[in-house]
Amino acid sequence: MSLAVTRLRSGGLITTYRCQSACPHCLYRGGPARAPEYIDQGMATALFAKALSLGTTAMHVGGGEPLADPLSLAGVLAAAAETGMPLEYVETSGSWFEDADEAAEILAELRSMGLSRLLVSISPMHNGFIPLRKTLGTIEAARHAGLDLFPWQEHFLEDLRAFDPDTTHPFREYLERFGADYPMRIRERLWIHLGGRAFDLFGPALGRQPVAAILAGASADCRGELTDASHFHMDLYGDYVPGLCSGLAIRAKDLGEPLDPEFYPILSTLAESGIRGLYDYAANLEEFAASPAGYVNKCELCQDIRRHLAERGWFESTELSPAEFYATP
Ligand code: SF4
Repeated sequence: MSLAVTRLRSGGLITTYRCQSACPHCLYRGGPARAPEYIDQGMATALFAKALSLGTTAMHVGGGEPLADPLSLAGVLAAAAETGMPLEYVETSGSWFEDADEAAEILAELRSMGLSRLLVSISPMHNGFIPLRKTLGTIEAARHAGLDLFPWQEHFLEDLRAFDPDTTHPFREYLERFGADYPMRIRERLWIHLGGRAFDLFGPALGRQPVAAILAGASADCRGELTDASHFHMDLYGDYVPGLCSGLAIRAKDLGEPLDPEFYPILSTLAESGIRGLYDYAANLEEFAASPAGYVNKCELCQDIRRHLAERGWFESTELSPAEFYATP
């Protein structure tokens, strides 16, 4: 049975993958090395309309850093208003904050265009790139601008306050101060999906298994994960990210109908025969050799296979997208 994503619930719009930070847990491998491209109003309108047509009740706006380009963000707000898409919040890391008055002015301007709620990221991972002073300044500016605040996650402030608020603190400093088990304690306090860079951050603490054990323990297929639309994402390139499987893409225009396996061979293989099917294909026909270090789970193996295919120039379909995902550490 062909893979089909026919109903959507709640999701996010990835406005850009560019970010001042390259957080070590980022699912999408955002960072300063990514292209400085931002979604245009026309694409945002098309994606909101598509999401609404499939039952989406509300979306949030994220990145990358959406506030890196306030003018383009205003275009996204206009697109939401035009299509009638309710916006739950806009995410920001506060990396753009320089001055309290200027920040409040930018946020007040965006508020007049429809921004009502601001999610401000607070975490030890972000603190490696953003001084606490900027995070707190962004929160204060949002209050001044009359926005609802969504601090994510406030309990980390206690940890961040152990360090100088005027500078950044690489995650290594947190490990030195709070101990080698700090990553595991973070996972107890905050749900973080294992994908993208998060494998590198949590892999050493979680441990890795040989590929044979991963394959033996894997589910028969990935259809359930790939069709989970409870927290979906669409991006500036017009792609839908199936499930939370970052680096995989369905063209948004193809949503709602069964996907043609000819155009979606990787996704069709994963939906039919899961990681075992993808591994067999890659090992037998694409010279994929599994890492001797093993894998945290099937998804790290999946990402490694896809990286291998991308490095071999395997772009017969549009599924391995954006290409930068596979080229960005
Ligand atoms: S193995 Fe791949 S397709 Fe399956 S859930 Fe993990 S990342 Fe998604």
